[in-house]
Amino acid sequence: MEISNLRALYIDQINRLSNQKRFGLNQTFISSPSRAGLRRLRTENASTIPTYPSVIIGGGVAGLMAATYLGQAGVSPLVIEGMNPGGAIIQSEHVRNWPGFLDISGYELIERMHEQAASSGARFEGSKLVDIDLNSWPYVLTLENLATGKTYQIKAQSVGISMGTSSKFLGVPGEEQYWTRGVYNCALCDGPLYKDKNVAVVGGSNSAITEALYLSNIAKKVTILMRGQELRSLDEATKKELLSRPNVEIRPLTTVENVEGDGEKMTHVILQNGEKLELDALFLAIGSTPNTEIFKGKLNLDEKGYIITDEIMQTSAKGIFAFGDITQTPCKQAVCAAGQGAEASMYITDYLNSVEKPKQALLGASPEVIEITSLEQFEEIMRNSDTPVVVDFYATWCPPCRRIAPIYAELAKQYDGKIKFLKVNVDVSELAQKFEVRAMPTFLFFNENKEIVDRLIGANEAHLRNQLELLIA
Ligand SMILES: Cc1cc2nc3c(=O)[nH]c(=O)nc-3n(C[C@H](O)[C@H](O)[C@H](O)COP(=O)(O)OP(=O)(O)OC[C@H]3O[C@@H](n4cnc5c(N)ncnc54)[C@H](O)[C@@H]3O)c2cc1C
Repeated sequence: MEISNLRALYIDQINRLSNQKRFGLNQTFISSPSRAGLRRLRTENASTIPTYPSVIIGGGVAGLMAATYLGQAGVSPLVIEGMNPGGAIIQSEHVRNWPGFLDISGYELIERMHEQAASSGARFEGSKLVDIDLNSWPYVLTLENLATGKTYQIKAQSVGISMGTSSKFLGVPGEEQYWTRGVYNCALCDGPLYKDKNVAVVGGSNSAITEALYLSNIAKKVTILMRGQELRSLDEATKKELLSRPNVEIRPLTTVENVEGDGEKMTHVILQNGEKLELDALFLAIGSTPNTEIFKGKLNLDEKGYIITDEIMQTSAKGIFAFGDITQTPCKQAVCAAGQGAEASMYITDYLNSVEKPKQALLGASPEVIEITSLEQFEEIMRNSDTPVVVDFYATWCPPCRRIAPIYAELAKQYDGKIKFLKVNVDVSELAQKFEVRAMPTFLFFNENKEIVDRLIGANEAHLRNQLELLIA
């Protein structure tokens, strides 16, 4: 069964969470270029494609946490959310192991994390990665806008891969209909809802044993439905313990043919021999697949397809980091993925500090916003400009600046051709002094005659829009 079918069940929630759609990904990879090689490659690739210091692929907990940390470090990452903004945790109605919450829905958790990342300066794109060229640096990512289907390219100095995994499904009738309404794939997450109930685990591997053992502490009865004859375990002690539990029944050579229910909730399954097995819940433990298909032959993957990283969470390519469930981590849990995202952000920041930043790769950079680093550059742009100009004076350490940066970039797209959008980092340019900027952010508005016609202090989107309208009125 296509995971995308199951994801469709959440699409309304997801779209409420974020107007952006998703991203896919595609690409080619490189082995670590040397520092000198990086410089050379960068020179060779100088072009009009916008360059971002940090692009995060994946909008799950790992990606959002990394984005928050990077944003707070002043990097303003671009997050490519993919097909499932929010990631796997959105599927959990009851997250009971997130710090500080006795019980929070995955959806609400993601909503909060999304807001936190955005207010830290992260920008989001509803696109999918279609290709990544790792043979040059900054790496060229080809993205597909999920709303329009159009492809476009960006460059990334660093990439954080947090694309998670896709659960395997049985592909039988009723499975999709009763998904999260009796059918689950995470006993730890949803098992506590079935105290003293009859549940079944599908699968015969180590993970099925772990899930069944956990459920046997909660449920009245746990039936293991397995295709094979024997449980396949890497851990004999756990298997022995499971087999010793009086409320566990093993059904070898058994497959589920149908999942049925009352329309609201699953009530039973039909087995291959036509038997109707009454159940309150069915837990699938038939494995999951890391979303690494496109990295095959490009990044080092283990035999199961998980990305291999080193001690600083870097993949086999320099500047490409991976974290969360897509890696070899044994802890496939939200809090672990988030922790890894946070840690990776520090290595990404270190990496960025070690390479020269292209001019555009600064806070809230976008194709339409020009980063000004010198008075000469500013004067030249003003000389050649035949439209009004707005300048955003910001600082990387200023939270309101980070908040308004993605909005400013979005406005730059909207007013493309009518108003020129510039931005000046007050820490690196003497322009702030020249224009007596004393608070951040400050926006200066220049008319077509290059005269300052207005000055706006603060990150107020409505005021900013008003001033822009006045500028072209
Ligand atoms: C039903 C269920 C319930 C769970 N309940 C709990 C729980 O209660 N507590 C707990 O701690 N853990 C729980 N987990 C586990 C937890 O959800 C995961 O460990 C966690 O979500 C992993 O986070 P991640 O960011 O690494 O990956 P994911 O959350 O899987 O996020 C992956 C992201 O990558 C994006 N993506 C994928 N492919 C592409 C692509 N090609 N291009 C761009 N983007 C892409 C997706 O759109 C998504 O945004 C549950 C899992 C499931 C399935």
